[in-house]
Amino acid sequence: MTREAERNSQILKRSQERELRLLEAEDLEQLCREILIGLRDSYGLDAVSFVICDGSHDIRHLLQASGLDLDELPGLVFVESLAGLAPQYVALRRPWLGAYSTADHGLLFPGIRGLASVAMIPLSHKRSLIGSVNFGSRQGDRFTADHATDFFAHLGVIASFCLENVVNRARLMRSGFTDVLTGWYNRRYLQIRLGEELARARRHGTTLTCLMLDIDHFKRVNDNYGHAAGDAVLREIAQRIDAEVRSSDVAARFGGEEFVILLPGTGTASAEKLAERIRQAVDREPFEIGRGRRIDVTASIGIAGIAPRRGDADLKTLGDSLIARADVALYRAKAAGRNALAVNPDNGVAA
Ligand code: GH3
Ligand code: MG
Ligand code: MG
Repeated sequence: MTREAERNSQILKRSQERELRLLEAEDLEQLCREILIGLRDSYGLDAVSFVICDGSHDIRHLLQASGLDLDELPGLVFVESLAGLAPQYVALRRPWLGAYSTADHGLLFPGIRGLASVAMIPLSHKRSLIGSVNFGSRQGDRFTADHATDFFAHLGVIASFCLENVVNRARLMRSGFTDVLTGWYNRRYLQIRLGEELARARRHGTTLTCLMLDIDHFKRVNDNYGHAAGDAVLREIAQRIDAEVRSSDVAARFGGEEFVILLPGTGTASAEKLAERIRQAVDREPFEIGRGRRIDVTASIGIAGIAPRRGDADLKTLGDSLIARADVALYRAKAAGRNALAVNPDNGVAA
């Protein structure tokens, strides 16, 4: 009896510690790790997955924007709709515990074999189902229909709250990182991502290349046609560049009429090709500036790359120097007559 009480009190303590870790998660990535790895290890589970119904792809984009490589979290499953993923979702109001079947639960645990029982814990927001946390065990009697579900239901409430909390926080962060005119990221965001991308390049031994684009004689657009016309040009430039870059590239409005694009894992030769495509996309057709007026616009682009090495500790200095070298190249492109590209040949690493 005392043994049983002691065991129960230990389980309770461990659960409370786990819940605290979930509640303390500062961002989506941390929450995912606490759920997928923290809960798995703490409860000795064979598999945990975290299914999020994300019809607008909003949550996935927020995670990617934070620089997270989604392949690093294979138990995280995003779906546009829960129907079709597992039949239990149709009526998942309370946790569902029972026998594992590949036909019913295979999609919940991608790449995992040999499970015998499952607990599906619903996550909800404003009373509608938004996903689930799923536990899988190789023991058939670990999760059965006659188990009490209070513990799982409680965990589901905590996890739902945490998910909503970190998603809201990510949205708020994003609004502080967004340029209102173009909808692009702003300079503040770029500085943060630059540090992260340099760290990643250093880890993987890859090159990070930076394009800096500046509109040619933009002051004349404002002077001749007004600021609203200038704004229209800025918006359209952002759209034309967007059409050329990949989703893994980080594009930001750096200043007034300057845009920076970070190209992870890209050397200067491929970056030059992309820069040329962007230059042409701007040059190709006139820009609509309202009231039926169309004007020709060109831009110049400076390119610089860096392959951070293991010993390079000060990523802030490295980032500043990458931007500065792209700016030097941009100045050369302007000096060469504008509507042009220039590459900074110096690789930024002291010999
Ligand atoms: P260059 O070819 O050497 O780059 O010449 P430029 O005229 O483009 O360069 P300059 O830096 O002299 O002018 C930039 C202008 O961009 C000045 C500024 O008023 C304008 N600008 C900055 N931000 C905005 C904005 O949000 N909207 C509009 N309409 N204009 C802006
Ligand atoms: Mg400028
Ligand atoms: Mg300019």
